[in-house]
Amino acid sequence: MSSLYCPTCDLIFDEPVAECPACQGPVELWVEGRAYVDPRAGSISKGVVLCLVLHSLQLLVPLFSEPVMLLFVGLTQALYVVPAIIVLAIQGKTKTLSGVLIFSGVTFLLNAAVLGIMCGSMMSSGY
Ligand SMILES: [Zn+2]
Repeated sequence: MSSLYCPTCDLIFDEPVAECPACQGPVELWVEGRAYVDPRAGSISKGVVLCLVLHSLQLLVPLFSEPVMLLFVGLTQALYVVPAIIVLAIQGKTKTLSGVLIFSGVTFLLNAAVLGIMCGSMMSSGY
């Protein structure tokens, strides 16, 4: 069973292709042990973009609810980030999955920082 390899995109194809579907460049026989990116794994940037899109959808929520909901932004993020992680894991999109994990980690830290600032200013203003 031989695979084909695109040196430009660093992708490997199990099915016979005449040219690389991504860049239309020439493919060569893939040599075992060569470093390559599995095209089915997706990419980290796709995961980050997916996470950004999901986060931007969430920005609509506070418009239709009480301002106190801002405190639960981190909780509502878990409602769509966790299913996204499960779906990507099932599909085997490991690179996209790491992108989602990296970006949701960053947003979690930002949420924690904002929550800390809000709680701090509430306490100092006498609540
Ligand atoms: Zn290519």
